[in-house]
Amino acid sequence: MLVVMSTDATRDQVARVVQVIEEMGYQARPMPGAQRTSVGVVGNDGRVDGSRLEALGGVAEVIHVSKPYKQVSREWRPENTLVTIAPGVVFGGGEIPIIAGPCSVESEQQIVLAAQQVRDAGGAALRGGAYKPRSSPYAFQGLGEAGLKILAEVREATGLPVVTEVVDPGDVDLVASYADMLQVGTRNMQNFPLLQAVGGVGKPVMLKRGMNATIEEWLMAAEYIAQRGNLDIVLCERGIRTFEKATRNTLDISAVPIAQRLSHLPVIVDPSHSGGRRDLVLPLSRAAIAVGADGIIVDVHPYPESALCDGPQALVESDLRELAAVAAHLSPLVGRTLTPAPAVPREPAVA
Ligand code: PEP
Ligand code: MN
Repeated sequence: MLVVMSTDATRDQVARVVQVIEEMGYQARPMPGAQRTSVGVVGNDGRVDGSRLEALGGVAEVIHVSKPYKQVSREWRPENTLVTIAPGVVFGGGEIPIIAGPCSVESEQQIVLAAQQVRDAGGAALRGGAYKPRSSPYAFQGLGEAGLKILAEVREATGLPVVTEVVDPGDVDLVASYADMLQVGTRNMQNFPLLQAVGGVGKPVMLKRGMNATIEEWLMAAEYIAQRGNLDIVLCERGIRTFEKATRNTLDISAVPIAQRLSHLPVIVDPSHSGGRRDLVLPLSRAAIAVGADGIIVDVHPYPESALCDGPQALVESDLRELAAVAAHLSPLVGRTLTPAPAVPREPAVA
């Protein structure tokens, strides 16, 4: 339930609403908005009787949130949520960041080269998995903490914030200590202990849509994160399983405006894992920007032919340059601009 205050409600009136919600045995979440403040009610299992709240001074209306994912719904918060992962890299506003990098961190040399290429080609953030949820137990599983250390070093050198996946709830604190945004992958979208763990950490989370999940299930998964107090969530459409064999997954492009309508969270697109083919990454990225995506995440590898993971879908530097140029061109048509690459961090002064 959401208690919407009138535009001229006083602080004391808001405080009284909070107090009454707590007296009723629930928790209150005051949310100051551009026009007026709302106070969300959480901690209830079923419908809450709002009559006591309706009668309080300064209350304009009481809205019963009809969705099973309340805190991430537009009913709960009409304005877009802006998710900032580093200074100048914001999802959900006027700028579109491109996150780029290899599927997995393979070696220091590979990531240093990839990060330079991403930066030079116009990427705003670096991706790369240190913990890989591979379908086969015999496939490369990632470098673990050694990979996280490499990512953190490369962030220092390039200024690119780092996005990396966490697979195990027990690793969340460790991964959060290195990453700027934690990624929850498609295979873990309904790993509820993992969602709760990333909900309790003070870092933004990118939640990929489960390959077999409906949009509603995806939003309910986001709600598990929000429920633990973390509303810095970026949703990522990465393709779903259909009967079509020409692509690795089918990019559900309509999920972008639908999720944006149902939720205030930013929605980005992963054209690499959707199509699974390098030649589809540019056309799918064009579609993503045209449909209003709040960002793009793409695989880029310095030498895709020997990549340990997902080489066939990885771009090379020149492809990323082209993608960034096309994205910069297209963005103004949908009222946006591309997030620029970060300024090169200054060399430390020599004493
Ligand atoms: C990835 O981005 O590296 C990844 C494993 O993606 P997904 O979970 O979408 O398959
Ligand atoms: Mn991958």
